Amino acid sequence: MSPELVIEKCMRCGACSGACPVNAIFLEEHSPKVSDECTECGLCVKVCPVGAFRPGGA
Ligand code: SF4
Ligand code: SF4
Repeated sequence: MSPELVIEKCMRCGACSGACPVNAIFLEEHSPKVSDECTECGLCVKVCPVGAFRPGGA
């Protein structure tokens, strides 16, 4: 499962998008979107300063 975004927490800083090793995160108008390229590495969960990503399947 790809990480799940808690949209209320996200401040659109772009850190997750920059950290993703396979460029699977795109910042859209209101929130980041995770594409099918996601390898479930968990890096975006770690780098988000406000904990807006939850590990998938949790
Ligand atoms: S790192 Fe966190 S706060 Fe920043 S854009 Fe990504 S999900 Fe939103
Ligand atoms: S889990 Fe890894 S591959 Fe998937 S969106 Fe986050 S940083 Fe990118």
